[in-house]
Amino acid sequence: MNIQEIFEKIYHAAEKCGYEIYVVGGYVRDQLLDKTGKDIDFVVVGDAMKFADQLKKDLHLRNLVRYPRFGTFMTKYYDYELEFVNARSESYSKNSRKPVTKQADLHSDLSRRDFTINTLAMEIKPGSKETIIDIFNGQQDLKKGIIRTPLDPEQTFMDDPLRMMRAIRFATRFNFTIEDHTYQAISKNKDRLNVVSQERITDEFNKIMLAKRPSVGLELLDETGLLEIFLPEFVETKGVEQKEKYHHKDVFNHTLEVLDNIAKKSDSINLRLAALFHDIGKPKTKRFDEKNGWTFYGHEIVGKRMIGKIMKRMRYSADSIGYVQKLTALHLRPMALVDSEVTDSAVRRLIFLAGNEIDDLMTLCRADITSKNPKRVKKYKNNYDHVLQKIEEVEERDRIRNFQPPVDGLEIMKLFNLEPGPKVGQIKKFVEEAILNGDVPNEHEACLELIKKNRTILLKP
Ligand code: ATP
Ligand code: MG
Repeated sequence: MNIQEIFEKIYHAAEKCGYEIYVVGGYVRDQLLDKTGKDIDFVVVGDAMKFADQLKKDLHLRNLVRYPRFGTFMTKYYDYELEFVNARSESYSKNSRKPVTKQADLHSDLSRRDFTINTLAMEIKPGSKETIIDIFNGQQDLKKGIIRTPLDPEQTFMDDPLRMMRAIRFATRFNFTIEDHTYQAISKNKDRLNVVSQERITDEFNKIMLAKRPSVGLELLDETGLLEIFLPEFVETKGVEQKEKYHHKDVFNHTLEVLDNIAKKSDSINLRLAALFHDIGKPKTKRFDEKNGWTFYGHEIVGKRMIGKIMKRMRYSADSIGYVQKLTALHLRPMALVDSEVTDSAVRRLIFLAGNEIDDLMTLCRADITSKNPKRVKKYKNNYDHVLQKIEEVEERDRIRNFQPPVDGLEIMKLFNLEPGPKVGQIKKFVEEAILNGDVPNEHEACLELIKKNRTILLKP
């Protein structure tokens, strides 16, 4: 079923109700940018709930979700996520953040939208050519790459301050410029972001983080003053010099570079967050040392602690938080391996600690090489390749990544006639250490032998 056929069916359903219907917002915008999306928003000039009944019948829909209070409903049809909303106007009063909405015509509906590029509507009458309705010169802004509010920007951002984050999201995603008045209004009204729920802010922030070059968004968030409001800890990294002699970037700019490097390799929001937060402990641990210049001893541990607080406040899941903390705590380990000789046992220990996150940890480490000095970059990259190769060798042989004790507690208890208790744990730990040290292979028989051989020491009270 192609999209034209779907539009045709939807159009006929609306016709039966005597309603006008248009496609609006993101889908129209993206189509004009030669991008095809699967999310389509429709405006119904009429009663969306009655239209829902008609559409359900005509398209034999089963999964239709209604929000009568908001005059909207959504459904999935083939590959598409379709969302329908009553044409409405919104008015905001000073005392409440909830707008009063009224049924309205298409034009009033379009003027309540956030940016001119999002006010475009498209007719879907079958047979006629797709007509774009463009009352705010959205197409021109789209061509020029401009983010601009259709009405007074101050009012627009007062009404819904999340739109300030959305402006930056669209500017980042499309590499557009925020028009001057719109930009000024963001700077001026940044504090209004405080009235927006953290969930909505984080949702928008994630979308910025998922852009091709997240650094563009973070710089805009910083320059407008929005970043200071929901992530002041990251603003603190500005002006914090790095220790390298030839490294002129501060921690803020270094981090942005790491983030963009990671964005080229992965779409995972968690890995991107790890890139964003991996040096967050640096401002707090910065010391000047006569011999070494600026140092940041322990910043990975201080950072880990800070991340727990920050990400919880930002309402990230416990899984995300644990992951970002783990990568941050370990981010210096792989490269530290080269300082000494890269021994098998050091590599085994690293794989053991990182577990399933070992690949992501290595991706982060690779992205972390940002020096401008070509000699250093070359040296670091060589070191990195060396460590990576070693990890692959050791993992292939010893399978530490998904470490399961080769002798389990039950077997130990049976062997020595032990009750459950700390002794069993101690013996397991002994085996684990022996494997990581390379004293014994990661195999059941060999480990069992080892335990038997050390019976006397192990059972000593
Ligand atoms: P995306 O590609 O991320 O879905 P989108 O433009 O479709 O981008 P949505 O959040 O899906 O963004 O919203 C759909 C449309 O609804 C927007 O294009 C815009 O016209 C309007 N809209 C959404 N949120 C707001 C808001 N906070 N204020 C004003 N208009 C909004
Ligand atoms: Mg959308």
